[in-house]
Amino acid sequence: MHRQRLALGLGICLLVGTSLSVLWVYVENWLPVSYVPYYLPCPEIFNTKLHYEREKPLQPVVWSQYPQPKLLEHRPTQLLTLTPWLAPIISEGTFHPELLQHIYQPLNLTIGVTVFAVGKYTHFVQSFLESAEEFFMRGYRVHYYIFADNPAAIPRVPLGPHRILSTIPIQGHSHWEISMSRMETISQHIAKRAHREVDYLFCLDVNMVFRNPWGPETLGDLVAAIHPGYYTVPRQQFPYERRRVSAAFVADSEGDFYYGGAVFGGQVARVYEFTRSCHMAILADKANGIMAAWQEESHLNRHFISNKPSKVLSPEYLWDNRKPQPPSLKLIRFSTLDKDISCLRS
Ligand code: UDP
Repeated sequence: MHRQRLALGLGICLLVGTSLSVLWVYVENWLPVSYVPYYLPCPEIFNTKLHYEREKPLQPVVWSQYPQPKLLEHRPTQLLTLTPWLAPIISEGTFHPELLQHIYQPLNLTIGVTVFAVGKYTHFVQSFLESAEEFFMRGYRVHYYIFADNPAAIPRVPLGPHRILSTIPIQGHSHWEISMSRMETISQHIAKRAHREVDYLFCLDVNMVFRNPWGPETLGDLVAAIHPGYYTVPRQQFPYERRRVSAAFVADSEGDFYYGGAVFGGQVARVYEFTRSCHMAILADKANGIMAAWQEESHLNRHFISNKPSKVLSPEYLWDNRKPQPPSLKLIRFSTLDKDISCLRS
């Protein structure tokens, strides 16, 4: 009797259960949104955060017993795309401009540019800015910082939306003094103001013009550009500072690429560290009564041997217009504006 009642009870439960699930399937078909009866994870998952150890900063490289990387190592018309420390070498064909645009545009970045226009070099500002407006970081927020001894001489060039210019007065110096004081001026400017105003900063020569697009492919932690005069040359022939007494000294066995002083950049905090470190090395040389062979460029090159750039720009981004365009360079993006050096240096 007891068993019969139990069986009946079970039967009723089963029947009710089945009818309920049939009813649910019926109702579900008519629901405006589908309900998936998944198990919801416990709320801790939303609060769980991993406490990573702080990223370990890279230490300066002291070991140099490795072969020199050659930009044209593999084929005479095809540039190397990766350094031995795995930094990309940027040239036409190595990146997809629209894809990068989709990645970087939503970040709402501000890109700073520093240039010096002292004495007669104010003549170059107009063409520099006009070409930058046409080609440099189109569609991004750009802040030009022009260091000038005579701010009134800086021409007014119409700028696109979200692009601004600040003229920063500096003292007039001789040609060599300017070449030795840019690192100091830039590092101080970053500390005082630029670190709050820009995400990335490029430090460029003013006697240059943009000739083709320069976009987000150039953004990186610390960015250096290969000098157009030495990319086919063995490292022993690079014009490094070779006197041991200088802080910019480089031994014959050292060196990757010879980088140009006319273009460097990166994340503003990294550019600060970099310019500060070069400035300190210049001060050390001054204390020893020595000026490096190519002034700031020598210190820049010394720094990049020990502290490798995270991105390297091919000579497309720093070209000398007196040279014919070689087949290895598909286009020139930024190059010298022919100048009468003797007249400017007088
Ligand atoms: N510069 C300047 N006034 C000068 C000399 C140099 O404003 O009298 C600035 C300018 O921005 C220029 C940069 O320093 O682009 C580097 O100078 P330059 O290209 O003449 O140096 P070089 O490459 O000839 O050694």
